Amino acid sequence: MQPTRITELRFEPLDLPLTEPFAIATGAPDMANNVLVRLTLADGTVGLGEAAPFTAVSGESQASTLEALGSVREAMLGKDAAAWRPIGAWLGEALPKAPSARCGLELALLDALCRHHRMPLATFFGGAGTGLDIDMTVTAGDEAHAAASARAIRARGIRTLKVKVGALSPEEDVRRMVVIRREAPEARLFADANGGYTVAGARTFLSGLEAAGIPLALFEQPVPREDWEGMAELTRSSRVPICADESARTVKDVVRLAREGGAHGVNLKFMKSGVGESLAMWNAARAFGMELMMGGMVESTLAMSSAVHFAAGLGGFDYADLDTHLFIREHAFRGGLRVEGGRVDVGHIEAGHGVVLD
Ligand SMILES: [Mg+2]
Repeated sequence: MQPTRITELRFEPLDLPLTEPFAIATGAPDMANNVLVRLTLADGTVGLGEAAPFTAVSGESQASTLEALGSVREAMLGKDAAAWRPIGAWLGEALPKAPSARCGLELALLDALCRHHRMPLATFFGGAGTGLDIDMTVTAGDEAHAAASARAIRARGIRTLKVKVGALSPEEDVRRMVVIRREAPEARLFADANGGYTVAGARTFLSGLEAAGIPLALFEQPVPREDWEGMAELTRSSRVPICADESARTVKDVVRLAREGGAHGVNLKFMKSGVGESLAMWNAARAFGMELMMGGMVESTLAMSSAVHFAAGLGGFDYADLDTHLFIREHAFRGGLRVEGGRVDVGHIEAGHGVVLD
């Protein structure tokens, strides 16, 4: 038997309490109800994967993810993990509506495969590097919350703040940005509306910032996913780079955004696309000269470490929004990425993503 054949596959709820609700324009979960994937190869190597369904963004839940995983379990057993890309493509067809489930399987596959070959994932993905400078999120909330969050992030030594907007009016969001700027005057500021504004609202927000003298370095998903024309209108007129997140789930989306001028850049996330598709999106975005961000849903150190391996190993990323492990109050893992201020690094990891169960 091939030593890398899949002999065992287990899925279980991974419930992670958060330090604060992860509030965005479309929802505010106070717990990450994720799924842990454990995959064993014929030689006994175990790989771990994480699925992080974010209901407000993709409609997936922990229950739907467990169901989706269960539906492909039998078919996965006996497959050779070495064929991870064909397996990923097959999963794309078998589970079109469960991207985070697919991603959990792909991550477990790659972790097992790279552990078998004693290779860190960052080397596997390209070996361009092992470290990244990350931002940290100011979740949606009032002005007092924005001030306290900005102070806390600054105290960590993180110099880029990504502010969740679009849950309130553009005028109220501008006032939050003013407060944040006061607390962290040297910080680089991103805003992410998660599709919560209209085109007019997005313009009001941008002109409000300009009037207040607040420089914005990046504006993510100002209008809803389906508003392709709105994205293009803002991309044509905005002095601030526009980044597509919800609008960019597949390589086809990236090509459409590039052709229609729908964004200056795209945010890649394992949980919305899977690993193989994220690679294709990276290639397309690079070919079209678009900027790249690596991001995530509300993920523990397991999926976040994998994302750091991917983005640092591939290289070419302009922004790294890989901070949600900092919002997880407790988990059952050890190993994985190391954090020093705003720098994350996986250079010490010898095989796979480096995360194991404690
Ligand atoms: Mg986003």
